[in-house]
Amino acid sequence: MSQKRIAIFGSTGSIGTQALEVIAANPEKFSAEVLTAQTNDELLVQQAIKFNPNVVVIGDEKKYFKVKEALAGTDVKVFAGEKALEEVAAMDCYDLMLAAIVGYAGLKPTLEALETGKAVALANKETLVVAGDIVMKKAMEKRVPVIPVDSEHSAIFQCLVGETRNRIEKVILTASGGPFRGKKPNFLVNVKRDHALQHPNWTMGAKITIDSATLMNKGLEMIEAKWLFNLKPDQIQVVIHPQSIIHSMVQFEDGSIKAQMGLPDMKLPIQYALGFPNRISNNSPRLNFRTFSTLNFEEPDIKTFRNLALAIEALNKGGNMPSILNAANEIAVYAFLRNRIGFLDMTEVVEQTMDKIPFIETPTLEEYFESDGEARSFAASLIQM
Ligand code: NAD
Ligand code: MG
Repeated sequence: MSQKRIAIFGSTGSIGTQALEVIAANPEKFSAEVLTAQTNDELLVQQAIKFNPNVVVIGDEKKYFKVKEALAGTDVKVFAGEKALEEVAAMDCYDLMLAAIVGYAGLKPTLEALETGKAVALANKETLVVAGDIVMKKAMEKRVPVIPVDSEHSAIFQCLVGETRNRIEKVILTASGGPFRGKKPNFLVNVKRDHALQHPNWTMGAKITIDSATLMNKGLEMIEAKWLFNLKPDQIQVVIHPQSIIHSMVQFEDGSIKAQMGLPDMKLPIQYALGFPNRISNNSPRLNFRTFSTLNFEEPDIKTFRNLALAIEALNKGGNMPSILNAANEIAVYAFLRNRIGFLDMTEVVEQTMDKIPFIETPTLEEYFESDGEARSFAASLIQM
């Protein structure tokens, strides 16, 4: 097997750094050819020195000279700025993009990768929430795979191997329930960022950790599942499973249900996506059923965690509604992380933005960009007050 050349967009993040661990452990299988970071120039430089990529991109243009100087003794090419992400995504120096940027910022480079015929391992769920129809259509047209990295979707993808002729009756997305499972609004109203940043089972970037605490993450994942697996909204169910051992399930037409299981460790779905269709051996700790004697399941409390109800509404409505939901949520989460608004205010911002921004049933890509921009400004205006 020849070496697969990987471009990690968002290499300094939680997914990006774990992907580099997978690459470092399998040098005969993978090389890192593109690394990108938004602000963390020091880590980007360290990564570049260790992995000797073809290209690095630093998003923050003010840091260009610092990165350039630090890599002066190497032949790593250095670019900066948002446009450079798209230009580099179009380059021929890699085979597979790991889309690990957080939020809407990941959309354009991912589209560019697909446009130029690259396979995509997709961690950046917001890309599908915003413009899933256009992204998946592009992948079909270019005949390139979009391989999920999100653990639930990787689980579903793994359950579907060998089932191409069999119809899916439904998928069951599992959710840990986050740090505030079982809590009520009178508790949530006082929650502060540092508490919300403590996830019981996973260590992840700040944005997805807050989304997990509000259950918005599961709502975004329902929309992600719709596009990845071509499902109707009523084929996607969420169940709370606090141990995060079953990563998700698929139910077929004969009532048979397949589940994919393992200890919660993002390196598994990351390496599965990079290596697909081959599994790669590793030494990570194994699940022992004697220590996990009980697996629990319960209904999500969407009356308390209203972000999930709003996401389901956006999923059912379709059109630009998921992109409006996503934009308002990004603004709300960053405001919460800066202690500007409370935990429950995040839901208010999303709900009011969904009510305000004009609905478009079948948006063009331009219209998705516009809805995103309008939703962001409106959501931000709510927070100023
Ligand atoms: P993170 O915050 O740890 O890392 C984000 C990366 O994106 C960093 O490298 C950062 O430099 C880059 N970035 C941030 N803003 C950017 C911008 N405006 N332009 C360009 N680059 C930018 O996030 P993460 O936890 O690694 O998550 C990345 C994506 O993967 C998210 O979409 C998240 O939902 C998804 N995901 C993450 C996990 C996880 O365990 N961390 C699990 C499932 C899915
Ligand atoms: Mg997930």
